[in-house]
Amino acid sequence: MNDLILIVEDEPKLARLLSNYLSQAGYDTECLENGLEVLPTVHERMPALILLDLMLPGKNGIDICKEIRSFSTVPIIMVTARIEEIDRLLGLELGADDYICKPFSPREVVARVKAVLRRSASEQPTGVNNALQLDAERFQAKLHGHDLELTVVEFKLLSFLVANPGRIYGRIKLMDHIYPDQRVVSDRTIDSHIKNLRKKIAGVSPETELIHSVYGAGYKYDALQ
Ligand code: CA
Repeated sequence: MNDLILIVEDEPKLARLLSNYLSQAGYDTECLENGLEVLPTVHERMPALILLDLMLPGKNGIDICKEIRSFSTVPIIMVTARIEEIDRLLGLELGADDYICKPFSPREVVARVKAVLRRSASEQPTGVNNALQLDAERFQAKLHGHDLELTVVEFKLLSFLVANPGRIYGRIKLMDHIYPDQRVVSDRTIDSHIKNLRKKIAGVSPETELIHSVYGAGYKYDALQ
C-alpha cells in the first residue's frame, strides 16, 4: 500500500496538479477543498502526510493544524500564498513540519514531501513526544507509546471525543455514535465505558486527564499539553 497524501487546497487546478505529481512519485492522494472536511478525513483515512493550505473555506489552516496536533503527529506541510506569512506561522508554533510558499514548483513540493516523510520515519521509533496516537484500522490507541488496550467501543468513544477537542458531548450523542444500530442501551453504559477508558489512561499515565465530565452535560476531551 502506498502512503496517502492528503491535499487540502481550495484551488481545484492546483490540487489536481499536486495530485498528479505526487501520484507520479508513487503516493496515493486525496484532495479536500473545505477546511471542515479535514479532521473527519484524517481520522478516517490516517494519511501519511497532509499538505495544508492556509486560506480555506470552512475552517482555516491554522485552526486545522492546531486541532490535528492535539491528537496526532502526522506530518503537516503548511502552504501559504504570502512569504511574509511564514514568519508569523513559525511564531505561532503550530507544530507544522514544513512551510511552502505559493507559487511553488510541484517538483519542489514532491521533494519536500519526501524529505518530511523521511525525517518523520526516522523520528518515529523514539516516540517520546507522540502523546496520543490513534490507529483506526486496528482500533488501537497508544498513549506515550503504550498500548491502552481498548475495546472497540472504548476506541470509538475516545476517537470521537478526540476529533473535537473541548467540545462537550451528551450521553445520547455518544450513544448514537457508538451504537448506530439503535441498540437499546442505558446511558449508564456510556458512563461505564468512560470509566474504563479513564482507568486505562490512568494506568499508562496517572497524571494525564484526557476525558473530563461536564456536570449535567456530558463529556469532553481536552488536548494534551
Ligand atoms: Ca486557499
